[in-house]
Amino acid sequence: MPISSKVAEKIVVAGGGMVGAAAALSLARLGHPVTLIDRHRPQDGPRGLGIDIRNVALSPGSHGLLAQIEAWPARTAPYQRMDVWEQWGAAGIQFDAKSMHRDELGWLVEVAELSEKLWSRLDESPLVNLIFGDIAAVGLADHQVELTVVPPADSGSRETQIVPAELLLAADGSNSSVRSLLGVATQSLPTHQVALTTVVKTTCPHGSIARQRFLLDGPLACLPSVDPHISSIVWSQSPAAGERRLNLSEHDFKEALGLALEYRLGRIEAVAERFVFPLNQQLAETPLPHPRVVLLGDAFRVVHPLAGQGVNLGFEDIRHLLPYVAAQRTFDQPGLLSAYARRRHRRSQAMIDLLGGLRQIYAQASPAFALARNVGVGWVNGQHWLKRKMMFEAMGLTD
Ligand SMILES: Cc1cc2nc3c(=O)[nH]c(=O)nc-3n(C[C@H](O)[C@H](O)[C@H](O)COP(=O)(O)OP(=O)(O)OC[C@H]3O[C@@H](n4cnc5c(N)ncnc54)[C@H](O)[C@@H]3O)c2cc1C
Repeated sequence: MPISSKVAEKIVVAGGGMVGAAAALSLARLGHPVTLIDRHRPQDGPRGLGIDIRNVALSPGSHGLLAQIEAWPARTAPYQRMDVWEQWGAAGIQFDAKSMHRDELGWLVEVAELSEKLWSRLDESPLVNLIFGDIAAVGLADHQVELTVVPPADSGSRETQIVPAELLLAADGSNSSVRSLLGVATQSLPTHQVALTTVVKTTCPHGSIARQRFLLDGPLACLPSVDPHISSIVWSQSPAAGERRLNLSEHDFKEALGLALEYRLGRIEAVAERFVFPLNQQLAETPLPHPRVVLLGDAFRVVHPLAGQGVNLGFEDIRHLLPYVAAQRTFDQPGLLSAYARRRHRRSQAMIDLLGGLRQIYAQASPAFALARNVGVGWVNGQHWLKRKMMFEAMGLTD
């Protein structure tokens, strides 16, 4: 495709999801003019029992980034403890904020709240230029990248825009158009699982504890919300089990879920609409497919939600990228981002391996394996130094 003679925008961010919006605001905060392209503003998702069904557990590392760009939402649910236990055996692990001399381990944040906050900051920022449209082509040259943006069908406009950029940050999600238009090889790592998500009301308060029970079929997370009796559910399981549980009557589903949580929150009093969708993991071969193109967030890698790390890794991409671009006036230096790319690839591969290993360990039903696992888990739970190290890692405090 021809490269235009238009003067290149300095930095263009493709995709205004949580990661792209935070990237644009972080760069604007450093004084870089940024153009952000998305098909549309954030769309409302399904709600249930007064909250957005889409929730993310955010780490203190992510909180640091969002606070810096003044995009931390007003409504968040901090959790002080995390309890992890399993189907076969009595051993479990508890992680406690007090042992880290902190008030919380993290926060559950409704995606709608965070997106609204990020976009109100984008609207206010004089250095952010918003373009609405579909990225339909990407052209590469030594000195610039060029995006072809087709206006949204409902906009009434037929005019395709050519947007040249000195640096393109692609945060356009797991089905990244930029990634596929550039033909970046991407490893797909099937989980053979689906996630059933919903929101529930329980008879006992959640006590600001995030709970996760490893069932043989997959992990079941019950995550506190701003309301002491409302929790969100992410239940990973085989597609067949997901289909079956989706079709249970409300009464039977409440019973099944209460039992699966061993009634740690009492009985399930109410349940919102249930949703089931496939869980895919993937990793692009590099976050830097061209010296002027960086893949961020889910556009680079998608991880299993069992450790609540997906968007935290995306925010971590931004935190690690900023020092490389902060003081740059141009992005012409060869190899400017190579060290960044190697580090992010290593980190993402390690996270995917860790999550795969955990799922394997907890999927073993043999009594001998279950015994060994319980002994191991019990040992880890007694090792405060090791738990602190694990918590530092999960909280995004290791950089
Ligand atoms: C069940 C579940 C639970 C999860 N829980 C957690 C959790 O507890 N903690 C956590 O950290 N993560 C969690 N995640 C992961 C998290 O939701 C994702 O990592 C995160 O949403 C990815 O954000 P993103 O901005 O990279 O991509 P997206 O949110 O997908 O944003 C991509 C944006 O790009 C735009 N776009 C795409 N293509 C184009 C195009 N061609 N032209 C223009 N614009 C385009 C889209 O409109 C969209 O706005 C969970 C995921 C699931 C499935």
